[in-house]
Amino acid sequence: MKSTNPHIKKILEHYTKISRLGKVKATLDWDLNVNMPPKASQGRANQSAYLEEIMTDLWLDKDFLVKIEKANKEKNLSLEDKGVLRNLNRSVKFYTKVPKATIIELTKITSEAFVHWREAREKNNYKLFLPHLKKIIALEKEIAGHLGYKDNPYDALLDLYEPELTAEFTKKTFDALKNELVPLIKSIQKSKSYEKETDLVGSKMLYPKPDQERLLQFIMQKMGFDKEAGRLDISAHPFTTGLGRYDIRLTTKYSEDDFRDSFTATMHETGHALYEQGITVEYDETPLEYGVSLGIHESLSRFWENMVGKNPAFLHYMTPLFQANYPKQLGNVTETTLVKAFNLVKPSLIRIEADEVTYSLHIILRFEMENALINGKITPEEAPEVWRKKSKEYFGIVPEKDSDGILQDVHWTYGSFGYFPSYALGNLYGAQFLNTMKKTVPFDASLEKGELQPVKDWLDKNVHTHGSLYFPHDLMKKVTGEDLNPKYFVNYLREKYTKLYSLSQ
Ligand code: MG
Repeated sequence: MKSTNPHIKKILEHYTKISRLGKVKATLDWDLNVNMPPKASQGRANQSAYLEEIMTDLWLDKDFLVKIEKANKEKNLSLEDKGVLRNLNRSVKFYTKVPKATIIELTKITSEAFVHWREAREKNNYKLFLPHLKKIIALEKEIAGHLGYKDNPYDALLDLYEPELTAEFTKKTFDALKNELVPLIKSIQKSKSYEKETDLVGSKMLYPKPDQERLLQFIMQKMGFDKEAGRLDISAHPFTTGLGRYDIRLTTKYSEDDFRDSFTATMHETGHALYEQGITVEYDETPLEYGVSLGIHESLSRFWENMVGKNPAFLHYMTPLFQANYPKQLGNVTETTLVKAFNLVKPSLIRIEADEVTYSLHIILRFEMENALINGKITPEEAPEVWRKKSKEYFGIVPEKDSDGILQDVHWTYGSFGYFPSYALGNLYGAQFLNTMKKTVPFDASLEKGELQPVKDWLDKNVHTHGSLYFPHDLMKKVTGEDLNPKYFVNYLREKYTKLYSLSQ
């Protein structure tokens, strides 16, 4: 991007260094997850920590901070100049307000906690993790104090992941969502055509990896992924990372007894990748260069995974392709069976196995727990019992083991309080985008013919291209004309599952 403001020009020049080093570090992290031999882990940790140190110094460069201060006072800045400043002020706030000692302490406590969390989960013994969780919560509160907040310390933590998100807004949104989801799930379960399982997958089935891979290459190309500007690899937990505007890496994983896993995971990650590939080249190496937030990122990945990939119209197009790709296993499969297999609804204890209807409830549960823990409304000692109660209320089932309850996720171990809500917000943002998209794009009709280009074009033009020029709520308003509203997601689910399970309206 070009700026006419002299301060902004200098700021952008300095930021280039931060941007380049950030990508070097991201390359090391990608390598760690994809290629690195286990014995290299200590060396890699040292390299990454050193890079982190240099980057922190660049963020705290006096001249840079003075220029930002000066630019903050300028009038008549362009929209892009303002976006640059707003994003920089956010990052600088973290580096300048949270003492270095606190960050070091957090790194130490969380790396210790990880080992104990893993053991606690394996042995189903919450007590092994409890002292570490207590320390993490105390430190998270301290960080919130440094960052500052109006009435709820949790707001300061939420804002780290989703700019300007508050607990009050999240609660209001999630309460509305919860009140709709719980009865919807019950009516799906009562439906005559309700099925919990599909016999297309399981230990008796074998879907060889090369066959799955062929289908992944096909779908990525269909979605419009630029293979010359990114690549697909394998890792234990699929992820996507941007190493530059023309180098977007994504990963997938294969289960040979379930052909759906790699397919949906790859559509999800390609959704993340298309976002990064779609950002205007003008913003490369500027503070506007990445997707704006976790929530918006997740809205796009979930959009492709669920709203496209599991859409009955799209599966109509895909049925003969699945049949041809797996002739022995799926040669005679009907469209109805396939659509059901991709859209099973089953309340379960484990978040990462959840379907698109029950998924948000897992997040709502975690949001309520975090908000209560950070505000001292419940103690870490009481937390497993509260988890069980909520589980009963939302899913109708209670985890017998804490390993399937409060110990299942790694996030708190990393000190990532405030991260979870962005997953559920993603569902809501995505459905609201879809509602607006449908006004100009013949969505189902295109999907039925396997035409995904109009969908990608719409997202490129309305969402991707902006990078992080707008904060999530401003982007939402700009694209859809209104603030985030959970009714679009609820309507989307109702419409889809009423048809699938012949529910009475
Ligand atoms: Mg994701």
